[in-house]
Amino acid sequence: MRICVLSDVHSNLPALEAILAAMAPYDALWHLGDIVGYGPQPNEVVARLAAEGALGVRGNHDAAAIGQLPTDAFNDEARAAVEWTADQLSDISRAWLTDLPERREIADFTLVHGSPRDPTWEYVFTGRTARGSMAQVTSTHCLVGHTHVPMAYLIEDSTVEAHSPDGAALELAARRALLNPGSVGQPRDGDKRASGMVIDTDNHTVEWRRAEYDIGNVQELMREAGLPRRLVQRLELGL
Ligand code: ZN
Repeated sequence: MRICVLSDVHSNLPALEAILAAMAPYDALWHLGDIVGYGPQPNEVVARLAAEGALGVRGNHDAAAIGQLPTDAFNDEARAAVEWTADQLSDISRAWLTDLPERREIADFTLVHGSPRDPTWEYVFTGRTARGSMAQVTSTHCLVGHTHVPMAYLIEDSTVEAHSPDGAALELAARRALLNPGSVGQPRDGDKRASGMVIDTDNHTVEWRRAEYDIGNVQELMREAGLPRRLVQRLELGL
């Protein structure tokens, strides 16, 4: 089975379309939250993922946009985008986001947005945090987003091996792993292309993919919506 795993789409429909095309064919689509926030097309992105039958979890931006997390924990630009998003959401989109759990177990995978310890806010940026996170789950693998940086942490006994995607498929073999697909709609690893990951459960491998999309088009929609200028600019930097 080939599972397409996406995170942090952030209301960026052209990036979502591009990465889905780059990942096809796949048998299942999973997401790790932050479907909305920052970008200009929240309802379109929710509709696209709903049509795909995507299974996933809620991120901090999703929770704030549906009024289940106070916006004062966000920086000024993120908060402005969350408030704009809350105004835009249709009843259908809001209901879809409201139905997302904080944590989901599917087969031998645990899905969360931030970390199993704190699905809403904790960032897994170090091997130490990755190991602490894996101590909180019984599944072999844990899938996280939130950092917007594609990454793998392979855990064996007391050692943690950090692995940045290099274009080749990574052999998981029997190792436990914490995997991050990177961000579809606002990558922050210096590569502005949409990021995603495919897990092959027959071969026990994981592969990251990048896809170019029309960033200028998204920036135009963001300007028309009056979204903060720094959020518009960062898309072309991948930061
Ligand atoms: Zn995010």
